[in-house]
Amino acid sequence: MEESVVENDKLAVLGKMAAGIAHEIRNPLTIIRGFVQLLHPHLVELGKADYTEVVLTEIDRANQIIAEFLDSSRPSEPMRHDVTLKSLLEDVHLLCQSEALLKGCELELVTPDVDRLISADPKQLKQVFLNIIKNAMEAIAESRNTGKGVIAIRLAYEDNLAVIEIRDNGKGMSEQTLRKLFDPFFTTKATGTGLGLAVCKRIIINHSGTLDAESTEGVGTLFRIALPTHA
Ligand code: ADP
Ligand code: MG
Repeated sequence: MEESVVENDKLAVLGKMAAGIAHEIRNPLTIIRGFVQLLHPHLVELGKADYTEVVLTEIDRANQIIAEFLDSSRPSEPMRHDVTLKSLLEDVHLLCQSEALLKGCELELVTPDVDRLISADPKQLKQVFLNIIKNAMEAIAESRNTGKGVIAIRLAYEDNLAVIEIRDNGKGMSEQTLRKLFDPFFTTKATGTGLGLAVCKRIIINHSGTLDAESTEGVGTLFRIALPTHA
């Protein structure tokens, strides 16, 4: 508990600093973009129009990365509503379906017949589920398994808890990765930010819940979220 409070503070400070820097990088990028567009007609005359396209595409990509980063680093208190997790997960399932199809993964959802209300911020919870599913898709893409990639989402109610499990048969993690995966800025990916799971952890802790992972290298990973339901 102590440790997670310290991690939470560290994340808030780092997030603020990084968000400040990200903002500052955006301004020069906007100026560069403008001047490249002004240069464009001259490059067309020289038969080098494609140079501008490369520069503009890369500037837009940098902007996109910054936008995603700012999105994920903004710490905020949950705006609680009465939420039914079943319909929230159905939304998420639908939202991810096309990307899953494109990536050749199967996305399963199992929910109980009777739903319960929980008090939670639906936007933040959605962000948690989307982050975990995105990681699962990436783990499946990086897996050397020849079989079909499967992501199984399961909702169940136990006593006063709602339990959401998200399981994938992707590449799994080493014990070393498993120990660090919730650390801010920890990533094993060339283009990763390492913020996804740190933000998920913070959101779930702010909801008085728990988020844990189990994983076996080469076999797959299970994320388990437990949230308190109404008494
Ligand atoms: P990022 O995705 O930007 O790397 P995350 O915080 O989302 O950052 O994840 C941190 C690291 O945890 C990833 O780089 C990856 O090594 C590991 N990880 C997360 N989810 C999975 C998963 N489902 N399977 C295997 N490894 C995972
Ligand atoms: Mg991620």
